[in-house]
Amino acid sequence: MATLSALQAPDIRAAKRLVVKIGSALLVDREGLRRQWLSALALDVAEARTRGTQVILVSSGSIALGRRVLGLASGALALEQSQAAAAVGQIRLARAYEEVLAPHGITTAQVLVTLEDTEDRRRYLNSRATMETLLGLGVVPIVNENDTVATDEIRFGDNDRLAAQIAVTVGADQLILLSDVDGFYTANPKEDPTATRFDLVDTITPEIEAMAGDPISGMSKGGMKTKLLAAKTAVAGGCAMAIMEGSTLRPLKALAEGAPRTWFVPAAD
Ligand code: GLU
Repeated sequence: MATLSALQAPDIRAAKRLVVKIGSALLVDREGLRRQWLSALALDVAEARTRGTQVILVSSGSIALGRRVLGLASGALALEQSQAAAAVGQIRLARAYEEVLAPHGITTAQVLVTLEDTEDRRRYLNSRATMETLLGLGVVPIVNENDTVATDEIRFGDNDRLAAQIAVTVGADQLILLSDVDGFYTANPKEDPTATRFDLVDTITPEIEAMAGDPISGMSKGGMKTKLLAAKTAVAGGCAMAIMEGSTLRPLKALAEGAPRTWFVPAAD
């Protein structure tokens, strides 16, 4: 582990190809879609595009949005209910991104993938070629898991790992996980007041793995364990990954200006 590493933290303003993962809790609250937050994120995306950065958004939120529309009771949903909610919510989710990005002259695309798509070579190459074409055309792909066809066994389980898989597939240089915590801690900061946040991690050691707790319940499915798995996938593929608190308006601007976060960076060579 290296908090005092000689390695520099990446600068998001220098990213060539950037993947940003947006969790359900950031996008959806009791009132529904958080439009003000999403519009502010669109400004961040537009700014990145102006700098010449290609952007891919991996967004959760379809189930959270759909269950509200369908009036499904709070609490755990049966798999078929989640899949139905995702089908209803995904169309609204995609439309919301289109609505906030179009005023900036940005074209969006909906890309739905499953774990099988990355395991089957032909489908993997096809989806990579499609993403490459979209990026080449200046489009911002909005990616989510294809929840209506994924079953419990084949689900990525959470979009943190999906985002890392996408980042590696398209050869992104930076992946940002917008989360409800501002980084990776030595212990769960909600339980342990002595927990400290890492600024930079350049090797995911067994000690670091032991520090990741279990998923915190609530709307989001991914806990620190899945974020660490995502980090492993990303850095193994040569992509730096940051975890940061995303609820602030313009989180990517905040990151550029030094907001708290943890960067996981690929080994020097
Ligand atoms: N794909 C799910 C959704 O959009 C969320 C999965 C996750 O948050 O990890 O609702």
